Amino acid sequence: MCYLDTNDKITCSGCEACANICPHKAICMIPDSEEFRYPKINIDLCTNCGLCRKVCPYNLSPQKCSGMNYTFGGHIKNQKVLSESTSGGAFSAIVNAWCDKNYVIFGAVSDGLNVYHDHIFDKKNLYKFRKSKYTQSNIGTSYADAKKFLQDGKKVLFSGTPCQIAGLKSFLLNCNQTNLLTIEVICEGVPTPLYLKSYNKYITTKYHSRIKSIDYRYKDFKSYFNHSIGRWDFEVMQLSLKNSRKLKTDRWFNPFWSIWISHLMSRPSCYQCPYATKERFADISLGDLWGVHLYCPELYNHNKGASLVICNSIKGKKAFLSTKDIFIGHELNYEEALKYQGPLKNHINSNPNRASFIQDLKTMPYTALCKKWSSPPTIKLLWQKYVWGNRQKILFWKLTKGFYHIQ
Ligand SMILES: Cc1cc2nc3c(=O)[nH]c(=O)nc-3n(C[C@H](O)[C@H](O)[C@H](O)COP(=O)(O)OP(=O)(O)OC[C@H]3O[C@@H](n4cnc5c(N)ncnc54)[C@H](O)[C@@H]3O)c2cc1C
Ligand code: SF4
Ligand code: SF4
Ligand code: SF4
Repeated sequence: MCYLDTNDKITCSGCEACANICPHKAICMIPDSEEFRYPKINIDLCTNCGLCRKVCPYNLSPQKCSGMNYTFGGHIKNQKVLSESTSGGAFSAIVNAWCDKNYVIFGAVSDGLNVYHDHIFDKKNLYKFRKSKYTQSNIGTSYADAKKFLQDGKKVLFSGTPCQIAGLKSFLLNCNQTNLLTIEVICEGVPTPLYLKSYNKYITTKYHSRIKSIDYRYKDFKSYFNHSIGRWDFEVMQLSLKNSRKLKTDRWFNPFWSIWISHLMSRPSCYQCPYATKERFADISLGDLWGVHLYCPELYNHNKGASLVICNSIKGKKAFLSTKDIFIGHELNYEEALKYQGPLKNHINSNPNRASFIQDLKTMPYTALCKKWSSPPTIKLLWQKYVWGNRQKILFWKLTKGFYHIQ
């Protein structure tokens, strides 16, 4: 049963398939008090045709991929693109290899604090889609647009969260999908936009300037003794303010990460995510190569970013294998990779304090909120991250193995 019948927010990921399919444009996506968007039917326009309920992935399960599970770890060779990508730039590599001619690419774009889906016809503009924006993107008319492009004979590459790919696949159920390639980001949930609003208010008061853009995973390739290293797993957030000021915070000192990973502010549907299983709808799943230092340290890539790529279908594998000249690394054991990818096995647990947190988020000043709800890093964590931890272990490993490089 879906939200349109139950009104239960657990059963609506906000994928927007219902709004895209309604022939009378009777469905609008309306933000609730936590600013997560839900469909609302305008009964004056509705003819009770039932299409919206039929297309909802909570009612209709689109066909899953064959379970190919071809797993690969590595990074794109191009250093500029790597620095502009969240993990190892697998997304850009696949787009570049698969999109030859007569193609259109869909992905999430950020415009200040808002995130929405858009499409481009030229790979030169791919920079718009790079980098994870940790806010749910607004699909708009993207499914309907993708369908039209497929019917016009174009190749369509569609990227998004797993629930958005399921929404697209439901929407395209009776459409020829031969020219469609779907890429999902491995997803642990999306946080309430209310948090960013509160943060923006605090920044505006403190720095007399609003946030212009957010790079959630700013990468900085520093050069030491002619050898460049990055800060991929520091998950540095960089704010660019309207007055040109830039503010950077490492993950361990950032209340956003502390609160979000405590599962205090995710969308209700994420706590019961139906897509947190090994079975996938997308041709390719992309994630960070978490656990790299434990099971494939040779792919650590000097902390400049490494991607986990799981090809779930024959089409996905073929598309990914065509990146062999621009993306380097090697095949990995699927079950090993899965150990470090919670979202491919279980949905997140609900936090019993979520309602109190949301109440405070609506009423408390930002600093008081963070003091109450975020946890400062422990001395042990700081020691591991900045003094002796994964990076140093990898350095030690390289010293003993003779600085082996994947080329
Ligand atoms: C909300 C969210 C949660 C994530 N959670 C995890 C996780 O728990 N574990 C993990 O390993 N990886 C997670 N990722 C994926 C990871 O952060 C990288 O996006 C992924 O590794 C691809 O990196 P890249 O270097 O290949 O691509 P990039 O070039 O950085 O590609 C970005 C891709 O992400 C898509 N994208 C960006 N923001 C959004 C958005 N808001 N909604 C939909 N699509 C978006 C773009 O369309 C593009 O396809 C998450 C990503 C998002 C957006
Ligand atoms: S029942 Fe039909 S007309 Fe009514 S909202 Fe759903 S799709 Fe639109
Ligand atoms: S189709 Fe998507 S947005 Fe509409 S009710 Fe179902 S899950 Fe929610
Ligand atoms: S956790 Fe599931 S429901 Fe939530 S955004 Fe990710 S894919 Fe969608």
